[in-house]
Amino acid sequence: MRTHAEYDCDVLVIGGGIVGLSTAYALTRAAPGTRVTVLEEASSPAHHLTRPDGGLIHSGVHQRRSSLTARFAARGGGEMTDFCARHGIAHTVTGKLIVATDRADLPRLHALAQRGREHGLPVRELGPAQIARYEPRVRGQAAIRVSTTGVCDAAGVLAALAGEVSAAGSVVRCAARVTAVDRRPWGVAARTTDGTVVRARALVNAAGPRSDRVARLAGDEPGVRVVPVRDTYYELRGPALVRGVVHPVPAPEHPYAGVRPIPGVLRSVDGTVLVGPVGATASGRPANGGPPGLLSALTRQASWRTARRRGGYGRGDAHLPGAGPERAERAAPDPAARAAVAAALRRLLPDVREADLCPVHPGVRAQAVHGDGTPVEDFLIREAPHTVHVLHTPADAAFATALPVGREIARRAMALAQGAGWRPPAVESGHCV
Ligand SMILES: Cc1cc2nc3c(=O)[nH]c(=O)nc-3n(C[C@H](O)[C@H](O)[C@H](O)COP(=O)(O)OP(=O)(O)OC[C@H]3O[C@@H](n4cnc5c(N)ncnc54)[C@H](O)[C@@H]3O)c2cc1C
Repeated sequence: MRTHAEYDCDVLVIGGGIVGLSTAYALTRAAPGTRVTVLEEASSPAHHLTRPDGGLIHSGVHQRRSSLTARFAARGGGEMTDFCARHGIAHTVTGKLIVATDRADLPRLHALAQRGREHGLPVRELGPAQIARYEPRVRGQAAIRVSTTGVCDAAGVLAALAGEVSAAGSVVRCAARVTAVDRRPWGVAARTTDGTVVRARALVNAAGPRSDRVARLAGDEPGVRVVPVRDTYYELRGPALVRGVVHPVPAPEHPYAGVRPIPGVLRSVDGTVLVGPVGATASGRPANGGPPGLLSALTRQASWRTARRRGGYGRGDAHLPGAGPERAERAAPDPAARAAVAAALRRLLPDVREADLCPVHPGVRAQAVHGDGTPVEDFLIREAPHTVHVLHTPADAAFATALPVGREIARRAMALAQGAGWRPPAVESGHCV
């Protein structure tokens, strides 16, 4: 067993996104004095948050009751709202309408209402006149309203979490990409591109789109591939057509948040109205430092299957097999796709004009897929010696679940650190540095 001073920190977190930072925050709150180091390859934690990230605080209503996502989102949404309020971060609890635009959607809408109640969410069923009271420009046969859904300033949340971690005496190091992980009987050592080595009792792999690679660096087979899925978004300019968050009932083939036959609409905290995602195409790894170029045959196969399963009218978008990330981010949706989006959206918002739909920077989200190409739908958290790997965070659910997920991962990391001789600093006097 090593002495306390021989460790650079107690818990090392790779990845300063929402999952890594909320884990570090939870560690510093659960056991003040615990030394946490977060290594983030980008120049700031919010660097990868792209314009389309609307900061939706999702309710988890679509998720199965037994899922971790539903469990965490049920309480995490309110916690995130409180966190924003305490830290002066822009946020609004808008509520969310899920609308049946067609009579054929009604059974699925009722099933969603039932599921929402089972999750303990405040769900109200609405007829067409009641829909108009909340969203006067939205048309539908019926809807449900989940009053706890909201939006927040996503970059503000990341900055506040990083600030809290630093204020607690822990370290968030940016521009620090981990290139090697060495696991030893006493813990782990990670090396960054500048040659710095950080030794820790326990490691949390929260590397998002690269979590499968980081798992392999640590010598673990993740059992999934993380593939990048490009979501196309539009900004809806012109007259203000929505007040909050409006989603159609998901199609049976897309039961979870993500691509729907009709895109969702969201008013973000700065007033921008975002429409999407409207297509899912897979491409090269996202532009966060990794080598562009060809993906392995397996990844590409999985990407194709995922894209095919999740794509609706978005199939018109360019699929860029083997293209580098830069090309994926530059590619603009074609005019035919925009016309199709406007036509689909008019089933929900009849006043939408095609000319008011302006494509915005596409977002690339990480989707873990099993070996047979099936997408992972829930959080995927795996443990290995001295290590917790977070291999999948469901799309849309990151902000609603962040605080409870951070606590769950912190709990597991502390248990692993204890196995390497760590004791909570408050209990063992003189332990804290
Ligand atoms: C367009 C778009 C819109 C979205 N909108 C919403 C929304 O409204 N609400 C919501 O809740 N979710 C939304 N999401 C999803 C959400 O952004 C993701 O689920 C969330 O960012 C995942 O968090 P993470 O911490 O797991 O991964 P990431 O945010 O990707 O963080 C992982 C971090 O690890 C770092 N990293 C990777 N490898 C290394 C390494 N070797 N060394 C050091 N650092 C490394 C990366 O630089 C990155 O910063 C959206 C996603 C997209 C693409």
